[in-house]
Amino acid sequence: MNLAQQIDQDGYDVRRFSHGLYIGGMWRPSSDGRLIDVVDPSSGAVIAAVPDATLEDAAAAVKAAARAAKGWRETAPRKRSEILRRCFELMVERSETLAMLIALENGKALRDARGEVAYAAEFFRWNAEEAVRITGEFGTAPSGTNRIVVDYEPIGICVLITPWNFPAAMATRKIAPALAAGCTVILKPASETPLTAYALAALYSEAGVPAGVVNVITTTSPGPLTFAMLADPRVRKLSFTGSTGVGRTLLAEAAKHVISCSMELGGNAPFVVFDDADLDAALDGAMIAKMRNAGEACTAANRIYVQSGIHDAFADGLSKRMAALKVGAGTNADTECGPMITRKAVDKIDRLVKDAIERGAKVLCGGSILDREGFFYPPTVLSAVSPEADMAHEEIFGPVAPITMFEAEDQAIAYANDTEYGLAAYIYTRDVGRGMRVASGIEAGMIGLNRGLMSDPAAPFGGVKQSGLGREGGQHHGIAEFMEAKYIAVTF
Ligand code: NAD
Repeated sequence: MNLAQQIDQDGYDVRRFSHGLYIGGMWRPSSDGRLIDVVDPSSGAVIAAVPDATLEDAAAAVKAAARAAKGWRETAPRKRSEILRRCFELMVERSETLAMLIALENGKALRDARGEVAYAAEFFRWNAEEAVRITGEFGTAPSGTNRIVVDYEPIGICVLITPWNFPAAMATRKIAPALAAGCTVILKPASETPLTAYALAALYSEAGVPAGVVNVITTTSPGPLTFAMLADPRVRKLSFTGSTGVGRTLLAEAAKHVISCSMELGGNAPFVVFDDADLDAALDGAMIAKMRNAGEACTAANRIYVQSGIHDAFADGLSKRMAALKVGAGTNADTECGPMITRKAVDKIDRLVKDAIERGAKVLCGGSILDREGFFYPPTVLSAVSPEADMAHEEIFGPVAPITMFEAEDQAIAYANDTEYGLAAYIYTRDVGRGMRVASGIEAGMIGLNRGLMSDPAAPFGGVKQSGLGREGGQHHGIAEFMEAKYIAVTF
């Protein structure tokens, strides 16, 4: 069965989702009728087009979210919870189709796309469970004159902006807690991968999310439209996932209106392997931390530091595994490494690899752009990568594993912290004491200790330093980003 048949069978017709902004529960064209082409990164071919929203459309989306706000805020938590639970169930039912859609527009391998849909759906299940457990506080003032009541209220209308690398999960990681908290939202997904966001929008209405509670708009002018939405006094929250550069611009703009911001920004994760690590487990972990989404992940291992005693065995094992990966279109069942999102992304990887080689790195496998249609870069392992190389300081966002050798624990921690970012880090050692010591020495919001994957809706996701502000998921953390505390002093 081909993709089109599969999508038609499940009621997911790409063409249907290709023709509407989703505002106030209705599908509509942009006010000036302009469209954005959606490209298949495995071929470079245009596969669909979505509306290019204007300032007028953004204003309509805010208006729709404002109109729906009171009703949703007053909807009983139990009811909100049941609707979120239904979103989870529908995503699970449609998971194969959604995975195909992600593989098609993002390019990631189907197995990664399936993993993403499962992860994305879990945000609905988790927040359905959390929605009925939002509590307040009650106490006596130290002076004894009054009681202190703290109530948590929905923060208001939220603008949510997401990147292309996880088209489903980055959206549900924001939408689910916002809805659980009682907020209405406008989602602006990346224009490279809008089809998944629109397919999910159709699913929310089917699950019972009232019109206007979730609105979705795509645009090629994200700056002006976002600035206009932030200037509307009804908008009280900006939740952004994307690059640190854009995050800084948005923080500066939000400051003008004193709007609450959550910022999930870039990463530069170190992956540290000590001599006493279980070699096979470290290699398994490195393959996941490096190659999930072909390296296009904010948590991707960007720098691999290996202690001298295990260095050669690790480098040899990793290059054998990387070289064996099957490269191809994400929609092919046997693909293990799909294309990059754009030609520009491939060119950036190429620049970083050439720079590392010029500074003395040795190519163990891969190392140059593949001569084929689409935006492919082969799985690559480099050893003897200089800590001064550009790739040690910039996000590679591709299937390149740079290895640098170290001798002592202190040196590993110093290498790990030699970056402006602080999102994720990985440590492999059999010595739990050392693992905990190094984990506390590394400046990062999340640590994988003998694990290559840490993302979990039940745990707080986010970074320190230039990797962002705030947390998504976890007990209370994710929902708290969408709530405001109201303190009531009571005398009785
Ligand atoms: P990006 O910053 O270019 O774009 C992210 C989103 O912001 C897109 O929707 C884009 O259209 C929009 N945008 C761009 N300019 C804007 C502007 N001036 N005003 C408002 N919106 C604007 O990032 P990207 O290339 O799509 O994604 C990759 C980046 O995202 C990487 O840096 C990666 O590390 C980061 N990321 C972080 C996390 C996390 O949870 N910390 C998760 C995924 C991706």
